[in-house]
Amino acid sequence: MNNEIILGIDLGTTNSEIAVVQDGKIIVIEEAGNKIVPSFVGMSDNNEILVGTPAKNQYVLYPERTIKSVKRHMGEEIKLELAEQSYTPQEISAMILKRLKAIAESYLNEPVNKAVITVPAYFSDAQRQATREAGEIAGLEVVRMINEPTAAALSYEANHKTNKKILVYDLGGGTFDVSVVSLEEDVVEVLASHGNNKLGGDDFDQKIIDYIIDHIKPQSSKAMARINRAAETAKRALSNQPFVTIEEEYLEQQNGTPIHLSLELSRDDYEEMIADYIDETLEAVHIALNGANLVASDIDEILLVGGSTRTPLVSKRLEAEFKQQPRLEVDPDLCVATGAAIQAAIIAGHKVAASVLVDITPYTYGTSAIGKLNGELYPYMYVPIIQKNSSLPMMKTDVFYTMRDNQEAVEVRIFQGEDVDALNNIQIGEFMVEGLSQVPQGNPILLKLELDLNGILNVSAVEKNTNLEKSIIIDNAISRFEANEIAEAKKRIDTIFGDDDNHHTIVQSKALIEKAERMLDQASSEDSEDIINLIEAIKDKNDLKESMDELSDILYYLES
Ligand code: AMP
Repeated sequence: MNNEIILGIDLGTTNSEIAVVQDGKIIVIEEAGNKIVPSFVGMSDNNEILVGTPAKNQYVLYPERTIKSVKRHMGEEIKLELAEQSYTPQEISAMILKRLKAIAESYLNEPVNKAVITVPAYFSDAQRQATREAGEIAGLEVVRMINEPTAAALSYEANHKTNKKILVYDLGGGTFDVSVVSLEEDVVEVLASHGNNKLGGDDFDQKIIDYIIDHIKPQSSKAMARINRAAETAKRALSNQPFVTIEEEYLEQQNGTPIHLSLELSRDDYEEMIADYIDETLEAVHIALNGANLVASDIDEILLVGGSTRTPLVSKRLEAEFKQQPRLEVDPDLCVATGAAIQAAIIAGHKVAASVLVDITPYTYGTSAIGKLNGELYPYMYVPIIQKNSSLPMMKTDVFYTMRDNQEAVEVRIFQGEDVDALNNIQIGEFMVEGLSQVPQGNPILLKLELDLNGILNVSAVEKNTNLEKSIIIDNAISRFEANEIAEAKKRIDTIFGDDDNHHTIVQSKALIEKAERMLDQASSEDSEDIINLIEAIKDKNDLKESMDELSDILYYLES
Protein backbone atom coordinates (compact mmCIF):
# COMPACT_ATOMS: atom_id res chain seq x y z
CA MET A 1 0.00 0.00 0.00
CA ASN A 2 1.17 3.45 -0.78
CA ASN A 3 0.73 5.82 2.13
CA GLU A 4 2.54 8.72 0.64
CA ILE A 5 0.88 12.03 1.37
CA ILE A 6 0.82 14.61 -1.38
CA LEU A 7 -0.77 17.94 -0.60
CA GLY A 8 -3.16 19.73 -2.92
CA ILE A 9 -2.37 23.44 -2.87
CA ASP A 10 -4.27 26.32 -4.39
CA LEU A 11 -1.66 29.06 -4.36
CA GLY A 12 -3.92 32.00 -5.06
CA THR A 13 -3.27 35.66 -5.71
CA THR A 14 -5.29 36.73 -2.71
CA ASN A 15 -5.81 33.56 -0.73
CA SER A 16 -4.34 30.11 -0.57
CA GLU A 17 -5.82 26.82 0.57
CA ILE A 18 -4.51 23.31 1.26
CA ALA A 19 -6.38 20.04 1.02
CA VAL A 20 -5.59 16.32 1.29
CA VAL A 21 -7.44 13.10 0.68
CA GLN A 22 -7.52 11.01 3.85
CA ASP A 23 -9.30 7.64 3.95
CA GLY A 24 -10.97 8.48 0.67
CA LYS A 25 -12.33 11.77 2.03
CA ILE A 26 -11.27 15.21 0.85
CA ILE A 27 -10.25 17.42 3.75
CA VAL A 28 -9.53 21.11 3.52
CA ILE A 29 -6.94 21.70 6.22
CA GLU A 30 -7.73 24.50 8.56
CA GLU A 31 -5.72 26.37 11.11
CA ALA A 32 -7.52 27.87 14.08
CA GLY A 33 -10.80 27.38 12.21
CA ASN A 34 -9.61 29.12 9.06
CA LYS A 35 -9.55 27.26 5.77
CA ILE A 36 -8.19 30.26 3.93
CA VAL A 37 -4.67 31.62 4.33
CA PRO A 38 -4.35 35.12 2.89
CA SER A 39 -1.46 35.21 0.39
CA PHE A 40 0.28 38.01 2.28
CA VAL A 41 3.87 38.05 3.49
CA GLY A 42 5.16 40.63 5.93
CA MET A 43 8.03 41.46 8.20
CA SER A 44 7.02 42.56 11.68
CA ASP A 45 8.76 45.44 13.42
CA ASN A 46 11.00 43.00 15.28
CA ASN A 47 11.96 41.31 12.04
CA GLU A 48 9.79 38.26 12.32
CA ILE A 49 8.42 36.87 9.12
CA LEU A 50 4.63 36.91 9.02
CA VAL A 51 2.55 34.90 6.58
CA GLY A 52 -1.23 34.87 6.17
CA THR A 53 -3.65 36.72 8.41
CA PRO A 54 -1.05 38.48 10.62
CA ALA A 55 0.65 39.80 7.48
CA LYS A 56 -2.68 40.86 6.00
CA ASN A 57 -3.55 42.63 9.24
CA GLN A 58 -0.33 44.58 9.33
CA TYR A 59 -0.70 45.61 5.68
CA VAL A 60 -2.78 48.63 6.64
CA LEU A 61 -0.20 49.79 9.18
CA TYR A 62 2.99 48.86 7.39
CA PRO A 63 2.39 48.57 3.64
CA GLU A 64 6.14 48.94 3.06
CA ARG A 65 6.77 45.84 5.14
CA THR A 66 4.06 43.73 3.54
CA ILE A 67 3.72 42.08 0.15
CA LYS A 68 0.41 41.06 -1.36
CA SER A 69 -0.62 39.57 -4.71
CA VAL A 70 2.87 38.20 -5.39
CA LYS A 71 1.32 35.78 -7.87
CA ARG A 72 0.93 38.68 -10.26
CA HIS A 73 4.71 38.91 -10.44
CA MET A 74 5.51 35.24 -10.88
CA GLY A 75 7.75 34.73 -13.88
CA GLU A 76 8.86 38.35 -13.89
CA GLU A 77 12.47 39.17 -13.45
CA ILE A 78 12.04 41.66 -10.64
CA LYS A 79 12.85 42.05 -6.99
CA LEU A 80 10.23 42.88 -4.41
CA GLU A 81 11.10 45.06 -1.45
CA LEU A 82 10.22 43.81 2.00
CA ALA A 83 11.53 45.71 5.00
CA GLU A 84 14.59 46.97 3.13
CA GLN A 85 15.48 43.53 1.80
CA SER A 86 14.73 42.46 -1.71
CA TYR A 87 13.33 39.11 -2.76
CA THR A 88 12.35 37.44 -6.00
CA PRO A 89 8.66 36.63 -6.49
CA GLN A 90 9.62 32.94 -6.16
CA GLU A 91 11.09 33.54 -2.73
CA ILE A 92 8.01 35.38 -1.50
CA SER A 93 5.76 32.63 -2.86
CA ALA A 94 8.01 30.10 -1.18
CA MET A 95 7.36 31.78 2.16
CA ILE A 96 3.63 31.27 1.65
CA LEU A 97 4.20 27.66 0.62
CA LYS A 98 6.39 27.04 3.64
CA ARG A 99 3.63 28.29 5.89
CA LEU A 100 1.05 26.08 4.14
CA LYS A 101 3.40 23.13 4.47
CA ALA A 102 3.79 23.81 8.20
CA ILE A 103 0.01 24.05 8.69
CA ALA A 104 -0.45 20.74 6.87
CA GLU A 105 2.32 19.05 8.84
CA SER A 106 0.92 20.14 12.13
CA TYR A 107 -2.53 18.85 11.12
CA LEU A 108 -1.20 15.55 9.75
CA ASN A 109 1.42 15.17 12.44
CA GLU A 110 4.07 14.13 9.97
CA PRO A 111 6.42 15.78 7.50
CA VAL A 112 5.18 16.35 3.97
CA ASN A 113 7.51 16.97 1.04
CA LYS A 114 5.33 16.76 -2.03
CA ALA A 115 2.52 18.79 -3.47
CA VAL A 116 0.30 19.30 -6.45
CA ILE A 117 0.04 23.03 -7.01
CA THR A 118 -2.57 24.66 -9.18
CA VAL A 119 -1.84 27.48 -11.60
CA PRO A 120 -4.13 29.51 -13.86
CA ALA A 121 -4.64 27.72 -17.17
CA TYR A 122 -3.36 30.85 -18.79
CA PHE A 123 -0.05 30.89 -16.89
CA SER A 124 2.90 31.04 -19.28
CA ASP A 125 5.86 28.73 -19.26
CA ALA A 126 7.92 31.20 -17.21
CA GLN A 127 5.15 31.63 -14.67
CA ARG A 128 4.83 27.86 -14.25
CA GLN A 129 8.57 27.49 -13.95
CA ALA A 130 8.65 30.19 -11.27
CA THR A 131 5.90 28.37 -9.36
CA ARG A 132 7.87 25.14 -9.46
CA GLU A 133 10.93 26.99 -8.16
CA ALA A 134 8.89 28.51 -5.33
CA GLY A 135 7.93 24.96 -4.31
CA GLU A 136 11.52 23.85 -4.43
CA ILE A 137 12.67 26.78 -2.29
CA ALA A 138 9.95 25.93 0.22
CA GLY A 139 11.14 22.31 0.38
CA LEU A 140 8.21 20.93 -1.57
CA GLU A 141 8.63 18.79 -4.63
CA VAL A 142 5.95 19.91 -7.04
CA VAL A 143 4.93 16.53 -8.43
CA ARG A 144 2.38 18.08 -10.76
CA MET A 145 1.01 21.44 -11.62
CA ILE A 146 -2.56 21.44 -12.81
CA ASN A 147 -4.67 24.20 -14.20
CA GLU A 148 -7.05 25.76 -11.72
CA PRO A 149 -10.21 25.22 -13.82
CA THR A 150 -9.24 21.59 -14.28
CA ALA A 151 -8.94 21.26 -10.52
CA ALA A 152 -12.35 22.86 -10.07
CA ALA A 153 -13.85 20.46 -12.59
CA LEU A 154 -12.22 17.51 -10.83
CA SER A 155 -13.75 18.62 -7.59
CA TYR A 156 -17.17 19.02 -9.23
CA GLU A 157 -16.83 15.71 -11.02
CA ALA A 158 -16.19 13.96 -7.70
CA ASN A 159 -19.86 14.54 -6.91
CA HIS A 160 -21.45 14.20 -10.35
CA LYS A 161 -20.98 11.07 -12.37
CA THR A 162 -22.51 12.17 -15.63
CA ASN A 163 -21.24 13.04 -19.07
CA LYS A 164 -21.26 16.78 -19.40
CA LYS A 165 -19.66 19.77 -21.01
CA ILE A 166 -19.00 22.42 -18.44
CA LEU A 167 -17.72 25.95 -18.53
CA VAL A 168 -15.40 26.87 -15.67
CA TYR A 169 -15.36 30.63 -15.15
CA ASP A 170 -12.64 31.50 -12.69
CA LEU A 171 -12.26 35.08 -11.56
CA GLY A 172 -9.92 35.50 -8.61
CA GLY A 173 -8.08 38.44 -7.11
CA GLY A 174 -5.56 38.83 -9.89
CA THR A 175 -6.30 36.37 -12.64
CA PHE A 176 -9.11 35.33 -14.92
CA ASP A 177 -9.40 31.97 -16.61
CA VAL A 178 -12.16 30.31 -18.52
CA SER A 179 -12.10 26.70 -19.62
CA VAL A 180 -14.41 24.40 -21.45
CA VAL A 181 -14.17 21.01 -19.80
CA SER A 182 -15.64 17.70 -20.83
CA LEU A 183 -16.58 15.24 -18.08
CA GLU A 184 -16.96 11.67 -19.20
CA GLU A 185 -16.89 8.58 -17.03
CA ASP A 186 -13.50 8.78 -15.39
CA VAL A 187 -11.99 11.34 -17.72
CA VAL A 188 -11.82 15.06 -17.15
CA GLU A 189 -10.64 16.75 -20.32
CA VAL A 190 -10.03 20.43 -20.82
CA LEU A 191 -11.13 21.15 -24.39
CA ALA A 192 -10.05 24.77 -24.53
CA SER A 193 -9.13 27.62 -22.26
CA HIS A 194 -8.49 31.30 -22.44
CA GLY A 195 -8.02 34.14 -20.03
CA ASN A 196 -6.05 37.07 -18.80
CA ASN A 197 -3.51 36.62 -16.05
CA LYS A 198 -3.63 40.29 -15.16
CA LEU A 199 -7.35 40.70 -14.57
CA GLY A 200 -9.22 40.15 -11.35
CA GLY A 201 -10.83 41.50 -8.22
CA ASP A 202 -7.81 43.73 -7.54
CA ASP A 203 -8.77 45.69 -10.67
CA PHE A 204 -12.29 46.09 -9.35
CA ASP A 205 -10.83 47.41 -6.09
CA GLN A 206 -8.73 49.84 -8.11
CA LYS A 207 -11.85 51.29 -9.76
CA ILE A 208 -13.30 52.02 -6.33
CA ILE A 209 -9.94 53.38 -5.14
CA ASP A 210 -9.87 55.74 -8.13
CA TYR A 211 -13.40 56.83 -7.28
CA ILE A 212 -12.36 57.56 -3.69
CA ILE A 213 -9.24 59.48 -4.59
CA ASP A 214 -11.25 61.57 -7.00
CA HIS A 215 -12.84 62.91 -3.82
CA ILE A 216 -9.99 62.74 -1.34
CA LYS A 217 -6.28 62.92 -2.10
CA PRO A 218 -4.42 60.96 0.53
CA GLN A 219 -0.90 62.11 1.35
CA SER A 220 0.44 59.19 3.35
CA SER A 221 0.96 55.59 2.41
CA LYS A 222 -0.91 54.59 5.55
CA ALA A 223 -3.99 56.49 4.41
CA MET A 224 -3.61 54.91 0.98
CA ALA A 225 -3.49 51.44 2.51
CA ARG A 226 -6.65 52.20 4.50
CA ILE A 227 -8.35 53.34 1.30
CA ASN A 228 -7.32 50.12 -0.42
CA ARG A 229 -8.84 48.11 2.36
CA ALA A 230 -12.00 50.21 2.48
CA ALA A 231 -12.42 49.79 -1.28
CA GLU A 232 -12.25 46.01 -1.02
CA THR A 233 -14.69 45.96 1.88
CA ALA A 234 -17.11 48.17 -0.07
CA LYS A 235 -16.81 45.91 -3.11
CA ARG A 236 -17.70 42.83 -1.07
CA ALA A 237 -20.61 44.62 0.55
CA LEU A 238 -21.97 45.55 -2.88
CA SER A 239 -22.24 41.84 -3.67
CA ASN A 240 -25.01 41.68 -1.08
CA GLN A 241 -26.50 45.14 -0.96
CA PRO A 242 -27.42 47.87 -3.46
CA PHE A 243 -25.59 50.73 -1.71
CA VAL A 244 -22.59 51.10 0.51
CA THR A 245 -21.14 53.97 2.48
CA ILE A 246 -17.37 53.97 2.45
CA GLU A 247 -16.30 55.42 5.77
CA GLU A 248 -12.86 55.97 7.28
CA GLU A 249 -12.61 58.29 10.25
CA TYR A 250 -9.41 60.31 10.75
CA LEU A 251 -7.86 59.08 7.55
CA GLU A 252 -5.04 61.54 8.09
CA GLN A 253 -4.29 65.17 8.91
CA GLN A 254 -4.00 67.58 6.01
CA ASN A 255 -2.74 71.08 6.89
CA GLY A 256 -3.65 70.41 10.48
CA THR A 257 -7.22 69.39 9.65
CA PRO A 258 -8.34 65.81 10.22
CA ILE A 259 -9.70 64.24 7.06
CA HIS A 260 -12.65 61.87 7.28
CA LEU A 261 -13.81 59.76 4.40
CA SER A 262 -17.51 59.24 3.86
CA LEU A 263 -18.72 58.39 0.37
CA GLU A 264 -21.70 56.52 -0.95
CA LEU A 265 -21.45 54.11 -3.83
CA SER A 266 -24.34 52.30 -5.48
CA ARG A 267 -24.12 48.85 -6.98
CA ASP A 268 -25.36 50.28 -10.27
CA ASP A 269 -22.51 52.79 -10.40
CA TYR A 270 -20.02 50.15 -9.33
CA GLU A 271 -21.25 47.78 -12.04
CA GLU A 272 -20.74 50.51 -14.56
CA MET A 273 -17.15 50.94 -13.36
CA ILE A 274 -16.35 47.27 -13.89
CA ALA A 275 -18.51 46.62 -16.96
CA ASP A 276 -15.55 46.71 -19.35
CA TYR A 277 -13.72 44.10 -17.31
CA ILE A 278 -16.73 41.80 -17.32
CA ASP A 279 -17.11 42.34 -21.08
CA GLU A 280 -13.51 41.31 -21.48
CA THR A 281 -14.15 38.08 -19.56
CA LEU A 282 -17.13 37.30 -21.78
CA GLU A 283 -15.05 37.80 -24.89
CA ALA A 284 -12.62 35.27 -23.46
CA VAL A 285 -15.54 32.90 -22.81
CA HIS A 286 -16.41 33.04 -26.50
CA ILE A 287 -12.83 32.47 -27.56
CA ALA A 288 -12.70 29.37 -25.34
CA LEU A 289 -16.03 28.11 -26.75
CA ASN A 290 -14.69 28.59 -30.29
CA GLY A 291 -11.51 26.78 -29.34
CA ALA A 292 -13.60 23.82 -28.21
CA ASN A 293 -15.78 24.01 -31.34
CA LEU A 294 -18.85 24.52 -29.21
CA VAL A 295 -21.55 27.15 -28.86
CA ALA A 296 -23.18 28.49 -25.70
CA SER A 297 -26.11 26.06 -25.92
CA ASP A 298 -23.74 23.06 -25.84
CA ILE A 299 -22.72 23.92 -22.28
CA ASP A 300 -24.53 21.82 -19.68
CA GLU A 301 -23.26 23.55 -16.56
CA ILE A 302 -21.39 26.69 -15.58
CA LEU A 303 -19.02 26.42 -12.63
CA LEU A 304 -17.96 29.58 -10.84
CA VAL A 305 -14.53 29.62 -9.24
CA GLY A 306 -12.70 32.38 -7.37
CA GLY A 307 -13.88 34.96 -4.87
CA SER A 308 -14.71 37.59 -7.46
CA THR A 309 -17.45 35.43 -8.99
CA ARG A 310 -19.54 36.49 -5.99
CA THR A 311 -19.97 39.80 -7.84
CA PRO A 312 -23.63 39.62 -8.93
CA LEU A 313 -22.86 41.15 -12.33
CA VAL A 314 -20.83 38.04 -13.20
CA SER A 315 -23.77 35.64 -12.76
CA LYS A 316 -26.14 38.12 -14.36
CA ARG A 317 -24.08 38.41 -17.52
CA LEU A 318 -23.37 34.67 -17.75
CA GLU A 319 -27.04 33.89 -17.27
CA ALA A 320 -28.03 36.27 -20.05
CA GLU A 321 -25.42 34.71 -22.33
CA PHE A 322 -26.03 31.03 -21.54
CA LYS A 323 -29.73 31.09 -20.57
CA GLN A 324 -28.89 29.15 -17.43
CA GLN A 325 -27.86 29.93 -13.90
CA PRO A 326 -24.33 29.09 -12.88
CA ARG A 327 -24.00 26.20 -10.37
CA LEU A 328 -23.72 27.34 -6.83
CA GLU A 329 -23.00 24.14 -4.94
CA VAL A 330 -19.27 24.15 -5.56
CA ASP A 331 -17.50 26.41 -3.09
CA PRO A 332 -15.70 28.97 -5.26
CA ASP A 333 -12.99 29.45 -2.64
CA LEU A 334 -12.18 25.83 -1.95
CA CYS A 335 -12.91 23.79 -5.06
CA VAL A 336 -9.49 24.42 -6.62
CA ALA A 337 -7.66 23.12 -3.54
CA THR A 338 -9.96 20.09 -3.27
CA GLY A 339 -9.43 19.34 -6.96
CA ALA A 340 -5.66 19.56 -6.41
CA ALA A 341 -6.00 17.13 -3.49
CA ILE A 342 -7.92 14.71 -5.72
CA GLN A 343 -5.17 14.91 -8.32
CA ALA A 344 -2.55 14.45 -5.59
CA ALA A 345 -4.34 11.34 -4.31
CA ILE A 346 -4.49 9.92 -7.84
CA ILE A 347 -0.72 10.41 -8.20
CA ALA A 348 -0.09 8.87 -4.78
CA GLY A 349 -1.96 5.80 -5.99
CA HIS A 350 -5.15 6.26 -4.01
CA LYS A 351 -8.25 5.64 -6.08
CA VAL A 352 -10.59 8.60 -5.93
CA ALA A 353 -13.18 9.94 -8.30
CA ALA A 354 -11.73 10.88 -11.68
CA SER A 355 -8.73 8.76 -12.52
CA VAL A 356 -7.52 10.17 -15.79
CA LEU A 357 -6.83 13.80 -16.28
CA VAL A 358 -6.26 15.29 -19.67
CA ASP A 359 -5.00 18.82 -19.65
CA ILE A 360 -4.24 21.21 -22.47
CA THR A 361 -1.90 24.02 -23.38
CA PRO A 362 -3.55 27.41 -23.70
CA TYR A 363 -0.76 28.66 -25.97
CA THR A 364 0.72 27.79 -29.32
CA TYR A 365 4.47 27.21 -29.30
CA GLY A 366 6.61 27.46 -32.37
CA THR A 367 9.70 28.79 -34.03
CA SER A 368 10.52 31.30 -36.77
CA ALA A 369 11.74 30.65 -40.30
CA ILE A 370 12.06 32.45 -43.60
CA GLY A 371 8.75 32.56 -45.38
CA LYS A 372 6.33 34.75 -47.24
CA LEU A 373 4.51 37.39 -45.22
CA ASN A 374 2.08 39.58 -47.19
CA GLY A 375 3.69 38.36 -50.40
CA GLU A 376 7.22 39.37 -49.35
CA LEU A 377 10.09 37.25 -48.12
CA TYR A 378 10.33 37.68 -44.35
CA PRO A 379 12.88 36.06 -42.02
CA TYR A 380 10.61 35.70 -38.98
CA MET A 381 7.52 33.91 -40.22
CA TYR A 382 5.95 32.09 -37.30
CA VAL A 383 5.96 28.31 -37.62
CA PRO A 384 3.60 26.87 -34.99
CA ILE A 385 4.71 23.46 -33.72
CA ILE A 386 2.55 22.68 -30.70
CA GLN A 387 -0.91 24.10 -31.27
CA LYS A 388 -2.98 25.85 -28.68
CA ASN A 389 -5.48 23.55 -26.92
CA SER A 390 -3.37 20.42 -27.60
CA SER A 391 -3.68 17.90 -24.79
CA LEU A 392 -0.67 17.36 -22.54
CA PRO A 393 1.86 15.85 -22.49
CA MET A 394 2.59 16.75 -26.09
CA MET A 395 5.66 16.08 -28.18
CA LYS A 396 5.97 17.47 -31.69
CA THR A 397 8.86 17.44 -34.10
CA ASP A 398 9.33 19.53 -37.21
CA VAL A 399 12.08 19.68 -39.77
CA PHE A 400 14.03 22.73 -40.92
CA TYR A 401 16.78 23.05 -43.53
CA THR A 402 20.00 25.01 -43.62
CA MET A 403 20.03 27.90 -46.11
CA ARG A 404 23.71 27.99 -47.09
CA ASP A 405 26.36 25.48 -48.18
CA ASN A 406 28.66 24.41 -45.32
CA GLN A 407 26.47 26.21 -42.86
CA GLU A 408 28.03 25.52 -39.47
CA ALA A 409 25.35 26.76 -37.17
CA VAL A 410 21.66 27.58 -37.01
CA GLU A 411 19.91 29.79 -34.56
CA VAL A 412 16.62 28.49 -33.22
CA ARG A 413 14.17 30.85 -31.61
CA ILE A 414 11.16 29.62 -29.69
CA PHE A 415 8.00 31.69 -29.41
CA GLN A 416 4.73 31.48 -27.60
CA GLY A 417 1.73 33.07 -29.28
CA GLU A 418 -0.58 33.06 -32.24
CA ASP A 419 0.61 35.85 -34.55
CA VAL A 420 1.86 34.97 -38.06
CA ASP A 421 4.73 37.37 -37.49
CA ALA A 422 6.88 35.59 -34.91
CA LEU A 423 8.20 38.89 -33.63
CA ASN A 424 4.72 39.81 -32.44
CA ASN A 425 4.72 36.74 -30.21
CA ILE A 426 6.61 36.28 -26.96
CA GLN A 427 10.09 34.90 -27.45
CA ILE A 428 10.62 32.40 -24.64
CA GLY A 429 13.97 30.99 -25.63
CA GLU A 430 16.68 30.78 -28.25
CA PHE A 431 19.69 28.62 -28.81
CA MET A 432 22.40 27.85 -31.33
CA VAL A 433 22.99 24.46 -32.92
CA GLU A 434 26.70 24.64 -33.64
CA GLY A 435 29.25 22.45 -35.41
CA LEU A 436 27.00 21.14 -38.17
CA SER A 437 28.47 18.90 -40.92
CA GLN A 438 30.09 20.56 -43.91
CA VAL A 439 27.36 19.78 -46.46
CA PRO A 440 25.46 21.72 -49.13
CA GLN A 441 22.41 23.76 -48.15
CA GLY A 442 19.27 21.84 -47.22
CA ASN A 443 20.85 19.96 -44.30
CA PRO A 444 17.79 18.80 -42.31
CA ILE A 445 17.59 19.75 -38.63
CA LEU A 446 14.87 18.18 -36.50
CA LEU A 447 13.39 20.43 -33.90
CA LYS A 448 11.59 18.72 -31.04
CA LEU A 449 9.22 20.50 -28.66
CA GLU A 450 8.05 18.60 -25.64
CA LEU A 451 5.49 20.11 -23.35
CA ASP A 452 5.04 18.14 -20.15
CA LEU A 453 1.99 17.81 -17.92
CA ASN A 454 3.07 20.89 -16.00
CA GLY A 455 3.27 22.95 -19.14
CA ILE A 456 7.07 23.11 -19.02
CA LEU A 457 8.64 23.19 -22.46
CA ASN A 458 11.74 21.25 -23.43
CA VAL A 459 13.32 22.04 -26.79
CA SER A 460 16.01 20.10 -28.58
CA ALA A 461 17.51 20.06 -32.05
CA VAL A 462 19.11 17.14 -33.86
CA GLU A 463 21.09 17.15 -37.10
CA LYS A 464 19.21 14.41 -38.95
CA ASN A 465 22.04 13.01 -41.07
CA THR A 466 24.49 12.54 -38.23
CA ASN A 467 21.76 11.73 -35.73
CA LEU A 468 23.80 13.76 -33.35
CA GLU A 469 22.05 15.89 -30.81
CA LYS A 470 24.03 19.06 -30.90
CA SER A 471 24.94 20.89 -27.74
CA ILE A 472 22.55 23.71 -27.38
CA ILE A 473 22.87 26.98 -25.55
CA ILE A 474 19.56 28.08 -24.19
CA ASP A 475 19.47 31.78 -23.90
CA ASN A 476 16.12 32.44 -22.34
CA ALA A 477 14.35 35.70 -22.88
CA ILE A 478 13.15 35.37 -19.34
CA SER A 479 16.11 34.18 -17.38
CA ARG A 480 15.56 31.43 -14.90
CA PHE A 481 16.98 30.44 -11.60
CA GLU A 482 19.96 28.14 -11.85
CA ALA A 483 20.03 25.18 -9.45
CA ASN A 484 22.58 26.80 -7.14
CA GLU A 485 20.57 29.99 -7.02
CA ILE A 486 17.57 27.96 -5.91
CA ALA A 487 19.66 26.32 -3.21
CA GLU A 488 20.83 29.73 -2.04
CA ALA A 489 17.31 31.11 -2.01
CA LYS A 490 16.20 28.05 -0.05
CA LYS A 491 18.88 28.66 2.55
CA ARG A 492 17.95 32.31 2.80
CA ILE A 493 14.25 31.57 3.31
CA ASP A 494 15.06 28.76 5.75
CA THR A 495 17.08 31.20 7.80
CA ILE A 496 14.22 33.64 7.91
CA PHE A 497 11.92 30.86 8.98
CA GLY A 498 14.54 29.87 11.53
CA ASP A 499 13.55 33.20 13.01
CA ASP A 500 10.09 31.81 12.86
CA ASP A 501 11.12 29.66 15.84
CA ASN A 502 11.60 32.97 17.48
CA HIS A 503 8.08 33.85 16.53
CA HIS A 504 6.83 30.64 18.12
CA THR A 505 8.81 31.38 21.26
CA ILE A 506 7.21 34.81 21.50
CA VAL A 507 3.73 33.37 21.03
CA GLN A 508 4.48 30.69 23.62
CA SER A 509 5.93 33.16 26.07
CA LYS A 510 2.82 35.33 25.83
CA ALA A 511 0.59 32.33 26.50
CA LEU A 512 2.79 31.28 29.41
CA ILE A 513 2.64 34.73 31.00
CA GLU A 514 -1.14 34.80 30.68
CA LYS A 515 -1.42 31.41 32.31
CA ALA A 516 0.96 32.38 35.10
CA GLU A 517 -1.02 35.53 35.83
CA ARG A 518 -4.22 33.50 36.03
CA MET A 519 -2.64 31.08 38.47
CA LEU A 520 -0.93 33.66 40.67
CA ASP A 521 -3.53 33.63 43.44
CA GLN A 522 -3.24 29.85 43.84
CA ALA A 523 0.48 30.17 44.54
CA SER A 524 2.20 30.44 47.90
CA SER A 525 3.79 33.83 48.61
CA GLU A 526 7.24 32.41 47.86
CA ASP A 527 6.10 30.92 44.56
CA SER A 528 4.28 34.16 43.71
CA GLU A 529 7.48 36.09 44.09
CA ASP A 530 9.32 33.66 41.81
CA ILE A 531 6.52 33.76 39.30
CA ILE A 532 6.48 37.56 39.22
CA ASN A 533 10.26 37.70 38.80
CA LEU A 534 10.16 35.14 36.01
CA ILE A 535 7.36 37.01 34.21
CA GLU A 536 9.51 40.13 34.35
CA ALA A 537 12.53 38.21 33.06
CA ILE A 538 10.51 36.77 30.18
CA LYS A 539 9.10 40.16 29.28
CA ASP A 540 12.62 41.59 29.27
CA LYS A 541 13.84 38.52 27.36
CA ASN A 542 16.43 37.83 30.10
CA ASP A 543 17.63 34.22 29.70
CA LEU A 544 14.35 33.76 27.87
CA LYS A 545 14.52 30.00 27.35
CA GLU A 546 15.62 29.21 30.92
CA SER A 547 13.11 31.60 32.44
CA MET A 548 10.31 30.05 30.39
CA ASP A 549 11.35 26.54 31.42
CA GLU A 550 11.49 27.55 35.06
CA LEU A 551 8.09 29.21 34.95
CA SER A 552 6.58 26.18 33.16
CA ASP A 553 7.96 23.94 35.92
CA ILE A 554 6.44 26.06 38.69
CA LEU A 555 3.06 26.12 36.93
CA TYR A 556 3.26 22.39 36.38
CA TYR A 557 3.75 21.77 40.12
CA LEU A 558 1.00 24.21 40.97
CA GLU A 559 -1.41 22.39 38.67
CA SER A 560 -0.61 18.91 39.94
P1 AMP B 1 -9.42 34.35 -4.92
O1 AMP B 1 -8.14 34.80 -5.60
O2 AMP B 1 -10.17 33.34 -5.63
O3 AMP B 1 -9.23 34.06 -3.45
O4 AMP B 1 -10.39 35.63 -4.95
C1 AMP B 1 -10.14 36.74 -4.20
C2 AMP B 1 -10.88 37.92 -4.79
O5 AMP B 1 -12.27 37.74 -4.58
C3 AMP B 1 -10.48 39.22 -4.13
O6 AMP B 1 -10.34 40.22 -5.11
C4 AMP B 1 -11.67 39.48 -3.25
O7 AMP B 1 -11.82 40.87 -3.01
C5 AMP B 1 -12.80 38.93 -4.08
N1 AMP B 1 -14.00 38.66 -3.30
C6 AMP B 1 -14.11 37.88 -2.19
N2 AMP B 1 -15.36 37.89 -1.72
C7 AMP B 1 -16.07 38.70 -2.55
C8 AMP B 1 -17.44 39.13 -2.59
N3 AMP B 1 -18.31 38.73 -1.67
N4 AMP B 1 -17.81 39.94 -3.60
C9 AMP B 1 -16.93 40.36 -4.54
N5 AMP B 1 -15.63 40.00 -4.55
C10 AMP B 1 -15.20 39.18 -3.56
